[in-house]
Amino acid sequence: MATYGAIQEPKVQSVMALDARGGHVAFSVGHEVLVADEDGRLLFTLEKAPGQPWAFAEVSSVSLDDEGRITVADANRRSLVRFEADGRLGAPVPLDDLPRLSFESATSGAKLVVADTMAHQLRLLASSGRTLKSRRIRYPNGITALQSSEGFRWIVAETGMVRARAFDAELEPVDYGPVKTLNTILARESGASALLGAPVPRWKELLDVAATPSAFAAATCRDDSGDCSVVRVDPRTNKADIVADIGFISAAGAEDSDGILQLSEIALTSSGRVLVASPRLSTILSFEGPGGPPTGGFCRECTPEELGQAPATLDQLEAGVSWRNGTRVSVFGDPAVRQRFQQKRAARNFYVRLQRWGQRGTVAIAILLLIAFGLIRQMGVDQRGSNVGYKQLIRGDGRALTSALAIILAAAGVGSLLGYEFVGWGGAVGGAAAFGGLASRYLVVPLLVRRRRQDAAAVAYEMFLGANAKHPLPTNPGESLYWVRFASAEVQLRQLIGDFRESFQIEDPLEALERLAPRLVLAAATNKRLIITNTSLLGTPIGTVVSREWDPQSGPPPVPPSSLTLFQKGEGERRFNLGGKGGSGEARVRTLAPVYLCQRCRRALGTCEHRPVGRWITGVLALLLPGLAQLVQGRFRGARVAGMAGMGLLSQAFHEFGPQHWGIIPANPSAYQKPMVAYAVLVMTALVEAVIVANREHGRCESNRRELARAPRRAA
Ligand SMILES: [Zn+2]
Repeated sequence: MATYGAIQEPKVQSVMALDARGGHVAFSVGHEVLVADEDGRLLFTLEKAPGQPWAFAEVSSVSLDDEGRITVADANRRSLVRFEADGRLGAPVPLDDLPRLSFESATSGAKLVVADTMAHQLRLLASSGRTLKSRRIRYPNGITALQSSEGFRWIVAETGMVRARAFDAELEPVDYGPVKTLNTILARESGASALLGAPVPRWKELLDVAATPSAFAAATCRDDSGDCSVVRVDPRTNKADIVADIGFISAAGAEDSDGILQLSEIALTSSGRVLVASPRLSTILSFEGPGGPPTGGFCRECTPEELGQAPATLDQLEAGVSWRNGTRVSVFGDPAVRQRFQQKRAARNFYVRLQRWGQRGTVAIAILLLIAFGLIRQMGVDQRGSNVGYKQLIRGDGRALTSALAIILAAAGVGSLLGYEFVGWGGAVGGAAAFGGLASRYLVVPLLVRRRRQDAAAVAYEMFLGANAKHPLPTNPGESLYWVRFASAEVQLRQLIGDFRESFQIEDPLEALERLAPRLVLAAATNKRLIITNTSLLGTPIGTVVSREWDPQSGPPPVPPSSLTLFQKGEGERRFNLGGKGGSGEARVRTLAPVYLCQRCRRALGTCEHRPVGRWITGVLALLLPGLAQLVQGRFRGARVAGMAGMGLLSQAFHEFGPQHWGIIPANPSAYQKPMVAYAVLVMTALVEAVIVANREHGRCESNRRELARAPRRAA
């Protein structure tokens, strides 16, 4: 049994349980267990009541005993349920020690052995459920009861040690010839090739074993995804053959769901056929040699190359395909059984598509939002341009902007190559953000400040702050504009290093993209004050406009300097490099405390009728949807980051919850509870952040009011 492999893929628990004995084949299809005869004719479904199938939470194993009774291990409910040979009268088997996540069982007469895979235990139980004896086995799988010519044997795969084990009726270790042969082959000991009759390939796993008096079979795998061959040992000769492999089969949609086991369990019929349950293909395959037990040489080493020489699709196998050695491979089951598997496959493929489109949809919406927010910033610019008689861009700006973009793209390209080389895809995004972002901020911004046409800053001022702007800047009587310039904040080495380090910690690829967009500073000096705001590449103001009145002892520089250093009481100096030729060198000026202007009327915050969104309303909005509060605060970036993260987590939770709820995949509440908890944490974080910002805005209103109360003449 393949519970070991399955637990490595917690997302798509993919065990398909299978067992054959006494002419019957029992197997799970989703939450139900069906019983067919060896030719695949459906006999019955395990039922609760006539016409009402027994719904298991998660079947981790089925086993038939010599009386034809069927025992089902329900891993999720940690219970064993035993049914009579006709599939009715299901009753729980008493268990004193409850098994862990995944387990199997085998029965012989009154004796029961539970292979508790995750607890590394093999337990012999009395019919009362009391544990008589237990043995430590690393990941026991495929427990089987066998009445062989050498006596009674319990046989199990010790998956964790890549070997099979044999025990007597009292669970004492004993020899069993075919098990010894298999272990010699698995360990590639001397003589292994002679036993297999072929060079021994490298197998990494032993996933399952099946035993009848006339054959012993083991699923030996090349990796831990269940890419396995079946090795069959003949107990009379102790010679081995590779008798089955499903690596040569392709199926539409099967490759989409990477991670679902290709093989989970195997079984041997009384006529020597090998049955292989493949969750990935959602089918049981039958391998049958001509006229009896399968002949050897199905594939020699079963390498991908060798298997690729005779590829087959699942559709071809519906009719049956003959392997070149005469082995016939076909899909097991009559039309009723096949239909059940096809339904299961369709449901699984739907689930995979749902997940994939969910991810793509989230990314697509994120990119659309990014573009939309960019466009919103530029909305109405043409209209305003015709009002003031200027355009934000004119012929000649193109060269400066093109070279700016080329520099950013080149730096981002180098960064992503380096990141990919050293880290991988995640590193490529981080590298692009780090190199491109730094080039944008520290190379391109100064370049644009120097190179953009002289009047571009004046045009931006006219469009967004001048008298004809949508939100004009109110000017005081006697206030006159001296000059307007694009500027770039002076770079300090420590800040540069900090920025660089931070760039690599970006988790959101869109944030990385945003980092690449250069941000300019627009500085305008009047005879009364200095106005400073961040702008986009084109000069559209982003964020708050700040007004600083000149300190009476320090006048405004009447002509634009090439660099401007601001001093203000209680605040460190800030240095800006200004564009334009013929600057008057460095200017050192003193200003009063900054006054933050309302985004809508450009008056001092707190003096107009526009109020920042209240703290309580902010909190309520943040609870409704992460990012909503940020959106109302006019902070698009924060809104997008929180909104996208929230959507991602919700859709992830739904991808898990939906299919589990509809029964497409087994119940596993932790799979959707985790994203729900992360969503709750995100909501709280976004809420706290939004309320802190709301608080800051109110604080700015207060400080503006105090500042203006102290100097009533400054009322703007
Ligand atoms: Zn206002």
